Amino acid sequence: MATILVVEDERELNTLIRRHLEDEGHSVAQAFDGPSALAAAQHDHPDLVILDWMLPRLDGMEVCRRLRRESIVPILMLTARADEVDRVLGLEVGADDYLTKPFSIRELLARVRAIFRRIELQGQAGSSEANQALLQDGPLRVDVGEHTASVDGRTVELTPKEFDLLALLVRNPGRAFARDYLLEKVWGYDYGGLDTRTVDTHVLRLRKKLGPVGDRIETVWGVGYRFARPRRPVGPEA
Ligand code: CA
Repeated sequence: MATILVVEDERELNTLIRRHLEDEGHSVAQAFDGPSALAAAQHDHPDLVILDWMLPRLDGMEVCRRLRRESIVPILMLTARADEVDRVLGLEVGADDYLTKPFSIRELLARVRAIFRRIELQGQAGSSEANQALLQDGPLRVDVGEHTASVDGRTVELTPKEFDLLALLVRNPGRAFARDYLLEKVWGYDYGGLDTRTVDTHVLRLRKKLGPVGDRIETVWGVGYRFARPRRPVGPEA
């Protein structure tokens, strides 16, 4: 099963959550304040972080922001403040989901399952797309086998790095990637220390070369970039 990091300074609650997650077969790491949460995230490479807002030394919002700079690990925020939910889920903080305190353990476990189900579905979609040599998105065509991209049938001349960056983004529509993450995936650098402006300049050039389609590469404030999902008319599912 998964490794989950539980960050909550109320020890009893933290341990209660841990026990229930362990009962579900997960392996659980615990942290009780902000800085140790960041250290544990680096050390344990969790598949999910359950993060309380109110924490000593560094609050959950700041921990979330910092985690987001380095990774796309799903983050479930616990908050007592329903009025702040927009900020928690918004680009400002970048959590994936939230629960308002007080919550039932059953509710928490259901939320955790839902997050993992979502990841699994994305993973399946990702791997089947990875096997597909051709990514098609509206007027944009990305041929992974041939390393070529075209818009409305017109070939777009890209450098190898520009191409790899575009293919990664298009393959994961709607997913926000941190600059550090892109730097590592596309350039193969270990993140930390290296200049993430490289990513910015490549994105700028990509946008220019792709023309109107380039607008789909969106800047995610405080995080990095994502390839926007195609705009659909608002239907009943929305
Ligand atoms: Ca707390």
